[in-house]
Amino acid sequence: MEIFKTAAAIQGFALEQKRGGKRIGLVPTMGYLHEGHLSLVRRARELADVVIVSIFVNPTQFGPTEDLAKYPRDFERDCRLCAEHGVTAVFAPTPEAMYYPDHSVWVVEEQLSQGLCGARRPGHFRGVATVVAKLFNLTQPDVAVFGQKDAQQALVIRRMVRDLNFPIRIEVAPLVRDGDGLALSSRNRYLSEEERKRALVLSRSLWAAQAALRERKLEALDGVLAAIRYEIEQAGGRVDYVEGLDSETLQPPTAGTRKLLLLLAAYFGNTRLIDNQVVEL
Ligand code: AMP
Repeated sequence: MEIFKTAAAIQGFALEQKRGGKRIGLVPTMGYLHEGHLSLVRRARELADVVIVSIFVNPTQFGPTEDLAKYPRDFERDCRLCAEHGVTAVFAPTPEAMYYPDHSVWVVEEQLSQGLCGARRPGHFRGVATVVAKLFNLTQPDVAVFGQKDAQQALVIRRMVRDLNFPIRIEVAPLVRDGDGLALSSRNRYLSEEERKRALVLSRSLWAAQAALRERKLEALDGVLAAIRYEIEQAGGRVDYVEGLDSETLQPPTAGTRKLLLLLAAYFGNTRLIDNQVVEL
């Protein structure tokens, strides 16, 4: 497995692979890899000849009061996992290798990124869309694999690819949970044992909501969302948002909505966790 640290080196590698007729699959990550990331790698291997994993804690998607400096990192372990899982190349630039000091061009999605995490984390999706567009240009993927864990992000990236005509297939892989139901996340590392136990309320309340909505349909939505909020607070969490939206538009569901997306963000201690569940109506 090769490791590249500069934009020129990874782009040279990718262009050479393309000239050799290889299909490239990209898995963008911020590192501290877990089974959720590795499921994306497996999917990329099914869809491409060459798999590139990027490991980059992207400063432009963090707000000034967020956890950029203390975001968990373990580059050696990440590389070992990538090698064990058949990754062809890791791209791990420094911020300086990714952004010129006078960087001044941004990719801004203006609909899907407005609510939910976009409303609570100003500038977050501008940073995400911009870095993903850069990674696409640097790694020339035929397919890029994202996780349903970050459902709003996946929709924003799909829209960017559609609206800017990137010739790239976007694949969204299922959300991977731990055995106890907690959605895998690099940020779970911040949780104390006690907080982690409390945080199990997230998946539990989403599953209960899913069952209730399947049975009682959209009329039950307001009650179901209120129940999720109540349960999170009872468990000692602090709700950031709990919403039920059309899974394609991220707008309130209508009679035409086939899949409802329940999305939530909540704090346990200082750690902000997100989770979601699709409900087929
Ligand atoms: P991150 O390193 O958190 O930026 O995530 C990199 C990619 O892995 C994103 O496409 C995430 O949606 C995806 N991902 C993170 N956690 C999970 C999970 N538990 N299940 C599936 N995909 C995930």
